Amino acid sequence: MNLLEKLVLVLNRNWLAVNIATARRAIVLLYSGRALAIGTEDFSTYDFDGWVKYSATADGDCISSPRMKLRIPEVIVLSRYSGWAFENKGPTRASLLARDGCTCQYCGRRLPPSRLTIDHIIPRSRGGSDDWDNLVVACIDCNIRKGDFSPEEAHMTLIKRPRRPLPLPYNRIRGLSSMPSSWLKFLSG
Ligand SMILES: [Zn+2]
Repeated sequence: MNLLEKLVLVLNRNWLAVNIATARRAIVLLYSGRALAIGTEDFSTYDFDGWVKYSATADGDCISSPRMKLRIPEVIVLSRYSGWAFENKGPTRASLLARDGCTCQYCGRRLPPSRLTIDHIIPRSRGGSDDWDNLVVACIDCNIRKGDFSPEEAHMTLIKRPRRPLPLPYNRIRGLSSMPSSWLKFLSG
């Protein structure tokens, strides 16, 4: 594999994982001073020059030129961004359709969005919230059948428990076949 295509975990200024970048991108961020590399053994941070010095003695994947050897960092931390957090906003119709795959969460039918509604599992009239775990995609038939009842009262069963979707980069990380073990130190949950 091309080393510059290796994936690097990106933390924001508060050391929260916010993205995954290629090594090529990570090195550009490091070189331009927009990120610091993290030594994953002791969590020391290094600017580009410091990282070059560190790389001279370090093991691991390195790219080299006649002038220097540069270790590919596994984790970098952005110097300035603190606002670049991919926190999920509250649920919207579009984000719920995406989460539930345009599939009615009661009968399991996959339908075009025009034939799907958003159902409050515990009806709003009975104190049900507008949170991720109380909202599901439901087809019109199921929504009418359920009416103002809870699923138990309507004798309907959800095909899966609705959850708040994982924030990025967790969704992307789940799709990877492997990741550096050092990332685990920076990922919660
Ligand atoms: Zn249905």
